Amino acid sequence: MRVLIIGAGVAGLSVAKSLRALNEEVDITIVGREGVLPYFRPALTKVLSPNFKPGLVRAIEKEEFFTDNGIEFVRDKDIVSVDYQKKCAVDEAGSSYVFDVLVFANGADCFVPPIKGSDCDSVYTIRELSDVEKLCSLLDGGKKSVTVIGGGVLGLEAAEGFRKFGCEVSVVELFPSLLGRQLDSDGSVLVKSLFEDNGISIYTDSKTKEIVNGTVVLESGEILNSDITVISAGVKTRTALAESIGVEIGRGIKVNEFLQTNVEGVFAVGDCAEVNGLGIGLWKVAMDQGSTAGENIAKFINGESDFSSFCFGTYCFTTNLFRTPIFSLGVVSGEYEDASALSEEDIKKKDAAFKKVVTDKGYEKFFYTNGKLTGVVLFGKIAKATKIKLD
Ligand SMILES: Cc1cc2nc3c(=O)[nH]c(=O)nc-3n(C[C@H](O)[C@H](O)[C@H](O)COP(=O)(O)OP(=O)(O)OC[C@H]3O[C@@H](n4cnc5c(N)ncnc54)[C@H](O)[C@@H]3O)c2cc1C
Repeated sequence: MRVLIIGAGVAGLSVAKSLRALNEEVDITIVGREGVLPYFRPALTKVLSPNFKPGLVRAIEKEEFFTDNGIEFVRDKDIVSVDYQKKCAVDEAGSSYVFDVLVFANGADCFVPPIKGSDCDSVYTIRELSDVEKLCSLLDGGKKSVTVIGGGVLGLEAAEGFRKFGCEVSVVELFPSLLGRQLDSDGSVLVKSLFEDNGISIYTDSKTKEIVNGTVVLESGEILNSDITVISAGVKTRTALAESIGVEIGRGIKVNEFLQTNVEGVFAVGDCAEVNGLGIGLWKVAMDQGSTAGENIAKFINGESDFSSFCFGTYCFTTNLFRTPIFSLGVVSGEYEDASALSEEDIKKKDAAFKKVVTDKGYEKFFYTNGKLTGVVLFGKIAKATKIKLD
């Protein structure tokens, strides 16, 4: 039996690990198009600085892991086609990889909105280590202007990194607030001031009209200097290879709770997958899906059918912006009454209320719905985060 995993990110690696733990015999091959060992991708926007070196981005497993566990890891090879009838995938150099079971773990590309000029030379995205290497080498040459289109967490982390190079940095966000999905309104306002205090210009509620080499033009008519423009506007799942062999595609590669596609013996995990209609591009989701798929592939190979289900959990958000740690969990925006002056007992009598405590570094906010703790924001000090459990 040969299991071929396309994509050497955390999802693909997790499939290989959990499958190998249950089956010592099966041939496992992971093919990845990056030239490096699978690594901690979330670090990419956090290591942008003049001190960058590739070693700052930690490999998930050392080279020996693959030899010790009999997992064939093929790097620097891009799978360009799959023939399901012949049970074979082919890379760009024409080498083929045969399989009995196929796993798509090929992640996502950065989404580039249809902005006029988004195809010009000065426009970049950040998804792979080589993107960070490229940007750092461009910025090493001296002071430049950089515009980040997208004020989500990755865009903001990147903007902080560009500032460390001494660049003139602007962030353009379509929505009226920063981190609107992860933070309450107090948090969004504080993040904006934090960035402005650190010399970054923030344009919220702003749409980009056009990118020209050297400038970004906003719908408002403002013109921003922009030697380099980085688009950070979400992701687009990689589905073309799966689609070519008849796998059903939605916003991602469609799989059931067992991570199986509609095609026999073909699974999908991580950022490329849409599980029962839902796709969440987070590290832990990709890792957990990979582990569950690995277990199910072991059962599939043994002819068993009592597959394990993958269920989405509640995922926390953490970041650290300009040395300010930020954490949130659950639902933290919407119509909540300020009940900070009430006792915990009285807050629990309210339908939707929050309690805010100002700390020396920021604040803590606890959101209650029908007496239950349903959301938390910790801003500035997050040591409590490990102890927090929603009701
Ligand atoms: C800059 C950045 C910061 C992030 N920060 C966070 C964070 O703070 N917290 C969090 O939870 N998540 C974060 N994420 C998201 C998280 O990294 C992803 O959810 C996770 O990496 C998904 O893992 P994956 O294995 O599914 O896909 P990926 O990590 O994208 O791995 C897929 C791999 O497949 C390879 N590949 C693609 N096509 C082919 C092909 N045809 N042939 C061979 N190989 C191929 C790709 O090169 C890639 O190496 C961040 C992502 C980025 C880009």
